[in-house]
Parts: sequence; C-alpha cells; structure tokens
Amino acid sequence: MPGYTIHIKGLVQGVGFRPYVYRIALQHKIYGTVENRNDGVWIHVITGREVMESFVRDLRLQVPPAAEISTVEVLEASGLPEYDKFTILGSRDLSDEITLISPDIAVCDDCLRDMKEQSHRIGYPFINCTNCGPRFTIIEDLPYDRLRTTMKEFRMCSVCRKEYDDVNDRRFHAQPVACHTCGPHYTLHLDGKEIIPLNQILRITGGMLQQGQLLAVKGMGGYFLACDALNEPAVARLRRAKLREDKPFAVMFRDLETLRHFTRVSAAEEKTITSWRRPIVLLESVQALAPSVCMGFGTIGAMLPYMPFHYLLFRDTELKALVLTSGNLSNEPIVINDREALNILGPVTDGVLTYNRRIHNRVDDSVLHVVGEKQRLIRRSRGFAPAPIETLFPVDGILATGAELVSTFCLGKSNMAFLSQHIGDLKNYETYAFYTESLDRFKELFRVSPEVVVCDMHPDYLSTRYAMETGLPVIQVQHHHAHIAACMAEYKLDEPVIGVSFDGTGYGTDGNIWGGEFLVCDLQKFERRSHLGYVPMPGGDLAALQPWRMAVSYLWYAFGEEMEKLNLPFLEWVRAGEKVHLLMKMIRKKINTPYTSSAGRLFDAVAALTGICRESTFHAEAPMRLEAAIVPHTEGMYSWLVQDEIIDLRPAIREIVKDIIAKTAPGAIAARFHRTIAHLIVEKSNHIRKETGLNKIILSGGTFQNRYLLGITEEMLEKLKFEVFISEKVPVNDGGISLGQLTVAGALRNSRD
Ligand code: ZN
Ligand code: ZN
Ligand code: FE
Repeated sequence: MPGYTIHIKGLVQGVGFRPYVYRIALQHKIYGTVENRNDGVWIHVITGREVMESFVRDLRLQVPPAAEISTVEVLEASGLPEYDKFTILGSRDLSDEITLISPDIAVCDDCLRDMKEQSHRIGYPFINCTNCGPRFTIIEDLPYDRLRTTMKEFRMCSVCRKEYDDVNDRRFHAQPVACHTCGPHYTLHLDGKEIIPLNQILRITGGMLQQGQLLAVKGMGGYFLACDALNEPAVARLRRAKLREDKPFAVMFRDLETLRHFTRVSAAEEKTITSWRRPIVLLESVQALAPSVCMGFGTIGAMLPYMPFHYLLFRDTELKALVLTSGNLSNEPIVINDREALNILGPVTDGVLTYNRRIHNRVDDSVLHVVGEKQRLIRRSRGFAPAPIETLFPVDGILATGAELVSTFCLGKSNMAFLSQHIGDLKNYETYAFYTESLDRFKELFRVSPEVVVCDMHPDYLSTRYAMETGLPVIQVQHHHAHIAACMAEYKLDEPVIGVSFDGTGYGTDGNIWGGEFLVCDLQKFERRSHLGYVPMPGGDLAALQPWRMAVSYLWYAFGEEMEKLNLPFLEWVRAGEKVHLLMKMIRKKINTPYTSSAGRLFDAVAALTGICRESTFHAEAPMRLEAAIVPHTEGMYSWLVQDEIIDLRPAIREIVKDIIAKTAPGAIAARFHRTIAHLIVEKSNHIRKETGLNKIILSGGTFQNRYLLGITEEMLEKLKFEVFISEKVPVNDGGISLGQLTVAGALRNSRD
C-alpha cells in the first residue's frame, strides 16, 4: 500500500480540526496519524490513491465552523510505519514556520445546551468546546496548546480530562476545557466585599442593572462598562463616568427577537450579527432606547450575547438591552488587567465583576455595517484578528507601522499579512504602549523578525517615528496610495486602477494635507490625477475638532472678503464668540494654517454651516451627523467647476449659503451635498477612465464609511459598468493603512527580485 503525507495550512488549530480529521479518517477506514505542528496540520496515511483522494475531498467539504483551509498539499511518502489505527498525536514545534491563530469564537449552541444539561457544567459560565470559546485572547505562544495559554493555571479535573482525551467527545483537545470543579470562576467586587457563588452574583448583578446601577464587567478581550440601555439616568451617568464625548454606545440585546423589535435588520445583517464572530453591527433604530445611548443618531451599534455569562445574565433578568461599552476612560485602551479594573473602573461604577483567567491579548469588539448586502468592517478586532490576509506575493519580514489616529500594524510572513487588532490613537501614551507591546507579541507569535519597515510620509506620526527608530531600512508610502493598496491587497489586484481616496487627513508629497484624491495607481506607484481644491485649515489639527473653523475657511474661499456681509446664522454664532476675526487673521497671514484638499474637512464645513455640528466631541462626528441628518428623496444638487484637473467647490458653497438663507431644511442641504459629492466622484472617474482606459475603480478612505455616500456612488459607478472594489474584510478607514503599506513594500521588492 502506498503512503501519503497531507499538509494542511490555514486556520486549522484551535478550531476542532484534528478530531474532525479523525472522524473523516474513520469514515474512510483509513489508518495513520494527524498532528499539529507550528506550520499547520500534518496527516500521514497508508491507503490507496482513490481512498486518499476521496478522503481529501471530504476534508475540504465539511470543515468546522471557524476553520478555514488555505492550502492542502499531498505528497507520496515512503517508509511510513504499518499503522493499525488512526491516532491523533500531540502538538510539536518543529521549525520557524507557523500556523494560524484562531480568533475568539462565540459560545456555540451545543455548549449552550450542555450548560443546561451536563451535571458538572450546569450554568457554568466558562463552558466551551472545540468549536467555540476564547482563543486569541488567551494565547501566549504557538502551537496552540493549553500550556501556552492563560488556561495553564487551571488543572483539569478527572471529568474534564476524560473529555479532553476522548476522541469521540466534543471537547477532545479543547484547550480551554473547564467545569465548575476545575475551571475559572467569576468574583463580584462590591463595597469592598468579594462574592463568589455564581447564583448570588447573577442575582445581585441582575438586580443592580435593573435598578439602573453601573457595572464593570470582564469580557472576552477586556473589561466593559454595562448598564440598562433603557434607563436614561443610568446611561447618562455612564456617559459622565467615561468622560466620553457624544459618541453612540454599543448595545447588547437579549436575543434576536428583541433586537428585531428595536432595529430594522435585513437578512444580510441578521446573518452577520448571529455569526460566530458576533460583531457589533450598525443597524437602523426603529424603537427608542434611552436617548443618551444613540445621541441623536438614527443607528444603533447592536450585538447579541457571545459569552456564556451574557446568556445567564439575560436568562435571570427581564433586561431587554444592555449598554456594553469598552471599559476605559476616554481614549485609553480597554482595560484587561483585574487590578487596573478595580482601581480605574471601580471608583466610577457600583461594582466590578472579574474572573480569574487572565486576558493575554487585548481585543475590542469589532464593528461593521452592511451596505448593499455586503459587510464592511469599520473596526477589525474580536472575531477577526489575528487571522491573516493572504497576499499575492511573499511579504516575509516586512513590518508596516500604519497611521496614527486609528492605528493598526501589519507583519508579513510568506504569503500572509498579519494585520493587528484595532489599537487606537497612538498619541495617547497607554495606547502607544499597547501598540508596541502587541507588535512585540506578533513578532514572537508569528516568528517574524522584520528586515524592512514601511510607514506613512507624515513626519510627526508616532508610527513613522517608531519606524525610523528601528534602525532598519525604511520605505515611506503616501497615505492615500496606502488606502487604495489596502483594498487592492484584499482583492489581490496587481495592475493599474483608478483610486478614489477620500478621508480626513493624509500627508501629501507636496507637504499639504491631502484627503480628496483621485489617483491612478498600481501597487508600486501612484499618480495624482485630480483632487479637491486646496483651502486653508486654520489651526491645523485643531480644525478637525472644530468644524466651524473649516466653515469659515470655506466661506472665505467662496466669497473672499465679501463673506463678512453675508447674513448667516452661522456667522452670527462665530461672531458672538469673536472667533472669526482671529481666524481670518490666521487665514490671511497663513499663521498655523496649512492647506488641505481633505474631503473630511469639507464635510465638516457643511455640517457647521448648516448648524448640524459646529463643534465635535469625537473623531468624525461632524460628517457622521451630516449623514444622519439627510432627508432622503430630496431633489437637486450643487455645482462645481474643474480647472486644471482641480475640483473647485466654490459654486457649491455659494449655493449652500443661498439655500441656508432661503431657510432650506439642513437635512435637505445634507442630502443635496452628499449627492453632489457622489456625482463629482462619478464624473471625475469617468473622465479618468476615458483618458486612461482603466475600468477598475477603488473607493477607499474613511469618508467611505458614510453608507449613504458609498451606496449611491457605488450604484452610479456600476450603472456605468465600472468594476468597483470596496474593502469588506479590512476597514476603509486608517485601520487598513498598514495593510496597504505592507502590500506596496511587498510589490516593490517583488518587482526587483
Ligand atoms: Zn461550544
Ligand atoms: Zn473540570
Ligand atoms: Fe486616511
């Protein structure tokens, strides 16, 4: 009989893959072995070619829910022993190659059933199996084995051990297997007391939440702050405790039925929100929660329970929905350490619920929305990271350091790009520490020692400085080119495309701040074909936080000194603060006033002019509020000029001012404005297509998180038979920049070799 070695790569560890192989082998009456190595799953079998082929075919057919096979390699093997059964061998670490780490998986239905039936796990809040449970958050090293996770501190009891060793059991080699006797447990810290019995914890926490109290609760990838989402005083208090802005809070609904009551949810949205990744999905609100949850936005960041404890809590209470927002104060990273939780979150809440298993890797909840039936990631974290994105060519040893405000980094290994979880604003010291710590961990986990570093062109980004300080060769990639390249990476495009890159800021090659860019590019280089006209940005970065500054700038751009004569409520408002004179001086004398072509700043200006948002309390608030204000089915749009390939929006600003003076509703102006931008993009793209013959077009950059703009632009482009590409798996915002940088560097190197 011939022998074969089958080498499977992909997301095949920690997802119940070996027992799965075992069962398929039994079905085919094949003898041999299967083992986890750091470079994937290896199977050795002795059998005929036909049987082997049908075995491999079946293996590909019914993969476990969270598993993903990327490659299967079959080699003939000689000298294999005479197997008399099929066995699962232990994990081995044999080379520098690695296998993938599974993201964390929401508790599965089988486990929820076991939680009611299995005597040693009745109501056990850390129940899990080979198909579900924590993964990335508890992994310290590869290959994935209990001893390399934070579960190593718990000794399996004999009952769990038996399940763990029994190949026919659902928990065979489920590394975090645990029960009431041997596993982790919750502790409620309340008024200096520690409460451990779970039934007491559930009764007390449920009661506290129903009475409108605030709790800090340890979740999968960090702590959360929780309160009843229907109790306004509680939510308002939570908002104060978090020192947070007016940013909407995420909400966990007790079940799908309740979710359907409060939101409009399409089939595609329902599929996403119930998937094992359990992300936060932005849904249209149809039934009010406490006003302080959504802060005037018509959408809710909604999710469903994903940890056993969530189910137990809802089971024992009448609560319909909980605000569940990351446990941090303002811009700091989400707290993962129990002591910190007690020290930082304890004083602002009524109780802290911890458990005694360490979180090793911090992950926030992921956020996405569904536009045109397609899922679009906004924040890529729990349930997605650290699964890699496959690349077209080898990217070994490349480290891309990303942007700054919405940062991630990306590490290359063979044909895989390991994009980090969402990290946050690097200007915050703690966040920067989170960034460097995660980077060191990724290097170790995925066995990468960077040989070359890629970063943004912005000299002041901390990620650029980090790159410079490594002492390694550095490549700088222009921000908007990186936005387009990130999308090209996802769709494996390596050819010239039209790239529409609209966002808030990005350092341009001319030293100005770009953000309304039409590029023609491939992976290696780009050409700036057109852009929004430059306007002053008085106060630099401050203008991004104070949309009224951009409104003044755009008025000045459109009307010159005549602007003073306009009879606008907006101008009265700025004059009342006497801010306008100082600002005009800055603009005229170019003091601390860079020039920008940013689309984000244009949206800011319109939001401020219409009175929709003059001052923002969080990143991108003004564009978000402008979008939320849209009155659909409004007729009309505004005009623009194109001169020397530069898009001049002065006519649009003058018409908007006219509309404001005519007391047109802000929501109608918002609709016309959005339509203007969509048409302008389509017209310009069509023009570039005629000149270049290129038909593939990419829309990327944070501005395309705007679902109204994205929806109508995509629709119009498709009507004109463009091939439109928009990221699904990677955020269009700066969270995708590091992937774009890595891809550009990989392409440059690949072309040289
Ligand atoms: Zn399970
Ligand atoms: Zn046990
Ligand atoms: Fe950007």
